[in-house]
Amino acid sequence: MEETHLFIHGKKRPGRSDNRLNNIYPADGSIVSEITYASEKDVNEAVESSEKAFRSWSKFTGTERGRILKKAADLLRKRNEELAEIEVEDTGKPVREAAAVDIISGADALEFFGGIAASIEGTHMQLGSSYAMMKREPLGVCAGIGAWNYPMQIACWKAAPALAAGNTMIFKPAELTPRNAVMLADIFLEAGLPEGVFNVVQGGPEVGKQLVEHNRIRKVSLTGEVGTGQKVMRGAASNLKKVSLELGGKNPILIFDDADIDEAVQGAMLGNFYTQGEICSNGTRVYVHKKIMDSFLDKLEAEASALRIGDPKNPATQIGALISKEQKEKVLNYIEIGKSQGGKLLFGGGEPSFEKDSPLNNGYFVEPTAFYTESDDDQIVNEEIFGPVMAVLPFGDEEDVITRANRTPYGLAGGVFTNDLKRAYRVADRLEAGMCWINNYNVNPIEIPFGGVKMSGMGRENGRAAIEDYTQLKTIYVEMDGVGKPFED
Ligand code: NAD
Repeated sequence: MEETHLFIHGKKRPGRSDNRLNNIYPADGSIVSEITYASEKDVNEAVESSEKAFRSWSKFTGTERGRILKKAADLLRKRNEELAEIEVEDTGKPVREAAAVDIISGADALEFFGGIAASIEGTHMQLGSSYAMMKREPLGVCAGIGAWNYPMQIACWKAAPALAAGNTMIFKPAELTPRNAVMLADIFLEAGLPEGVFNVVQGGPEVGKQLVEHNRIRKVSLTGEVGTGQKVMRGAASNLKKVSLELGGKNPILIFDDADIDEAVQGAMLGNFYTQGEICSNGTRVYVHKKIMDSFLDKLEAEASALRIGDPKNPATQIGALISKEQKEKVLNYIEIGKSQGGKLLFGGGEPSFEKDSPLNNGYFVEPTAFYTESDDDQIVNEEIFGPVMAVLPFGDEEDVITRANRTPYGLAGGVFTNDLKRAYRVADRLEAGMCWINNYNVNPIEIPFGGVKMSGMGRENGRAAIEDYTQLKTIYVEMDGVGKPFED
């Protein structure tokens, strides 16, 4: 049985905790590797290694750091196929997605932050003949804690800005998707990254907690659930480390009667069924203007019923398996709740059937599903399901739908489909969300910041904004005129 190890100071080795976990291929329930978890001693060794590496890495010039990151980006692209296959086996997502998005978007992050590493700069302030310099310094050892839906992308979105700014990182992937973080560590080493600059520890919440509470770690960046974010923020208070939280959402898409309906249908499908709906920014509350509701639903059903669900390794497959049996049961349970609370099931609503002897029958599949409901109080309209379940709701008035869209503790993302330019800006302005799309959905180029407001989190990934989250300001005042006699009458 293949074992998935830790990666500390340039070396792969088994974790020394007694905890182990089987890494399961979600499409057929088979075991692909066994993960050995990090012990407390392993975590401390990772911190020591990262501290040691920080002393030299932070002294590299930005150009030198950027060169290594860009080389790692090239290696990622070169090994896209192999890495995408690992991503498929760990997550159950279709290979056409993993090969087109997961690894490539990670490479984009390394390339982008590699490119700006050399231009991270501070400011200067003239104060008469004296002056001050405001430097942007790296923080030190940072911890990255990942979710399981985009393992390689999340590892790169955290590591790239952290390393570009001169920090070192200890990354803990989600326990269900452990392998590509180790592959990334290997690739970094091959690209010339010094040992200890990027370490990987494996484990579940308890290992995450050790990182979060570690007094020699200066920052933690989490991608995960709101509840985990709250725990992380409390734990980080031990040494007041900086915190970035990329958490969940229950995001609205507003489709006005002047929108291009075909485009809006594609946007809603992209924002609900890509990666089997396991995307934090998904627009799972789709508000559609009453006047176009019938036409929207007809087109949606026609498009969604054509989606091909099945073997994630088949390039033709568009919908793969959910991450785990628990996640499948959670999603199916929400579908039952949706029905019992009066939502009208439009399509989907269960597990697909495969040929009798197919191993896929042991997998964790749920059909793309949509409900029509007029009640904003349904649980499926309020709670994050993290699966392929869309709720479609009617509206008639702009002001009213904005109020309804904002009636949530979350604030990650939102979308508006309309051909009225003023309305598009007006609505996007009013949505309480960190990321708004006009006439598209879930598009996240590396150049632009991404992150939430309200209970969807704090801090930003991507764009130059991410550099601010991985640096601190130091002000140095330079006296040119002398101290003088401050106590003289
Ligand atoms: P999760 O919160 O259960 O786990 C996320 C990570 O946190 C895992 O690595 C886990 O081991 C670790 N963890 C759990 N408890 C911890 C603790 N007490 N201390 C430290 N670490 C701990 O989330 P998940 O189920 O892996 O992922 C799904 C969630 O992630 C969804 O809510 C989704 O919306 C969110 N998500 C957000 C974004 C974003 O960018 N905003 C992206 C992807 C996923």
